[in-house]
Amino acid sequence: MPVLVYAENAGGKFKKSTFEAVSYAKAIADATNTGLTAISIGDVAAADLAALGNYGAEKVLNVANDKLKNFVNQAYASVIAEAAKAEGADIVVLSNSFSGRGLAPRIGVKLQAGVADGAVALPSIEGGKFTVKKTAFSGKAFATVELTSAIKVVSLTPNSYKVVDGGADAAVEDFAVETKESDFKAMIKDIVRSADKVSLPDAEIVVSGGRGLKGPENWGLVEELAELLGAATACSKPVSDAGWRPHSEHVGQTGIAVSPNLYIAIGISGAIQHLAGVSSSKVIVVINKDADAPFFKVADYGIVGDAFEVLPKLIAAVKAYKA
Ligand code: FAD
Repeated sequence: MPVLVYAENAGGKFKKSTFEAVSYAKAIADATNTGLTAISIGDVAAADLAALGNYGAEKVLNVANDKLKNFVNQAYASVIAEAAKAEGADIVVLSNSFSGRGLAPRIGVKLQAGVADGAVALPSIEGGKFTVKKTAFSGKAFATVELTSAIKVVSLTPNSYKVVDGGADAAVEDFAVETKESDFKAMIKDIVRSADKVSLPDAEIVVSGGRGLKGPENWGLVEELAELLGAATACSKPVSDAGWRPHSEHVGQTGIAVSPNLYIAIGISGAIQHLAGVSSSKVIVVINKDADAPFFKVADYGIVGDAFEVLPKLIAAVKAYKA
């Protein structure tokens, strides 16, 4: 019984988090002595589908259906569940991306499966027990959960498992599905892509600003540092509420959850609701003029100082390093 992995694409291209999920699913397939089948929904080039073999998929099911061109939560969950049944898969893996967060529980219900969402490590499969370490309470804690159901759904936190490549091309098969009207009650009409150079949920480096930056006119420093580092920009909730930055940059419990390799927080106090969306970042650097700011408690590196003095020096240092 193969492992099934959902290979999510954005605008027809697979994302890094997809390669992480396929690599992760391959490691689970190897640990359970089984094969790995991937499923892709939407318009993806044949060569890109076959290239999923590079990350461990032996077979790729391609669902090219006009009604499924744009992401529809219920309909995608139905298709993935149908594919799991057709393949006889007892483990379904996907990324805990924005869409993955909506899909995992729906697939779980359709397959009567146990769900571990936000896994941060490979499952332990010993003595018939399947346990997974995952984030809990909006990223404020970790929990190790045991899935006792016959079918298991695991969604992987982006940036928490390395991409492993080196395999041969996968065989690509069309997977025909019959869509149900009842799966299309809520639909995406149009997708407007932001002009951001680096997509925030997928960014490896995030430079984030808070109310300590005083106003939108000062964001040039944040943008300059982000550009030099190839990073995405983000902000705290009050900053987007005040209209200093777009809501698409708001990170935290009520915003986007990010887990980059490097998160640089500038003039952000580190309230629990902010930390909920950023604390699984690999390395956290905090710049704050208040040495008692709560963010320092979770920082790997901290600079106590005025952002308007520290940032120009940091920018100059990065420029000198790159020269
Ligand atoms: P402040 O708390 O005002 O902190 C500004 C910081 O900047 C201070 O630490 C200060 O020392 C420092 N500073 C000031 N001047 C300088 C300077 N010149 N140089 C360096 N440092 C300086 N917040 C989120 O971010 N994301 C969420 O998703 C979110 N969800 C929420 C949900 C709920 C239900 C609630 C109640 C709140 C939520 N909040 C969220 C708000 C959260 O509680 C905090 O109010 C918010 O994170 C504070 O934003 P801040 O750190 O930018 O501003």
